[in-house]
Amino acid sequence: MTRRELAKSITLIESTRPEDQDAAQAVLAQAMPRSGKSWRIAISGVPGVGKSTFIESLGWMLAETGRKVAVLAVDPSSPVSGGSILGDKTRMEKLSTHPNAFIRPSPTSGALGGVARKTREAILLCEAAGYDIVLIETVGVGQSEVDVASLSDFFLLLMLPNAGDSLQGIKRGILELADLVAVNKADGEMRELAEAAKAELQSALHMLASERNPVVMSCSALDGAGLSELWQKTSDLITASQTDGRFARRRRSQTRIWMKQTLESELLSRYWSEKGRVEQFNKAVEDLESGEITPLEAIHRLGNF
Ligand code: GDP
Repeated sequence: MTRRELAKSITLIESTRPEDQDAAQAVLAQAMPRSGKSWRIAISGVPGVGKSTFIESLGWMLAETGRKVAVLAVDPSSPVSGGSILGDKTRMEKLSTHPNAFIRPSPTSGALGGVARKTREAILLCEAAGYDIVLIETVGVGQSEVDVASLSDFFLLLMLPNAGDSLQGIKRGILELADLVAVNKADGEMRELAEAAKAELQSALHMLASERNPVVMSCSALDGAGLSELWQKTSDLITASQTDGRFARRRRSQTRIWMKQTLESELLSRYWSEKGRVEQFNKAVEDLESGEITPLEAIHRLGNF
């Protein structure tokens, strides 16, 4: 399958047009038996931490060693503006020219759950097309990491070298999702700061003493320092999880989540596609506004529950 064909298949499964659904299912069904063989690696961090730069450098390094690297983005979109948070900036231009790399810009619409579900399906298509490393990028803003964690085998969190502020407002929960934390921009004047931040993070994480203590490293996405060590560590950790069964357990729980999300979104779309639902809903909102009934009573009036 060429990159162009892969891109077209992903567009098809992302389509929300009813007339595309059968073809999308056919494409997915065909891909499924050949999927599952990659390492799915989530990469997250606040805007500006260096995610694109990091993926470009790491992806290039891996592609040069003959790995086939696919990059997908989960873009949570701003809840206020509806706009994309990852942005439309041209991303990973160099990597996109490598014959072993495939880069997919983020889907631009849909509820987050929907985006995550399509991303899962895009992962399967990439795997069926022979990509053995799938990098899934998302912005560190909260819910998107939780969704992305449910899509990935390994969670890599990038952080800025702000000494004295090691947790950087990142919720403890997010830190607990991480398998590896990398303090990026450990170069030039920021090198020392980055090393200090790394030490501080290590001790902060030690104090949290969660059962999944992530490894903390430092790197420079810009000049490449530390990237091969970081990759070595990542592959060691993934290989260890494959050996001791955690990898398979994680995949199984991902499949459950996938099934649940598919069921929920299917139920919702069936519900809304039934005749008269919007009118019923608007009427229920009016009743609720006038204080006549509670939301649950309003829902019961909608019937078919
Ligand atoms: P993203 O928003 O997380 O994708 O961040 P970008 O990859 O777009 O990087 C944001 C800015 O940080 C850009 O100006 C990059 O050149 C810069 N940057 C990224 N990685 C590094 C790094 O390792 N060292 C330094 N000094 N700058 C970096």
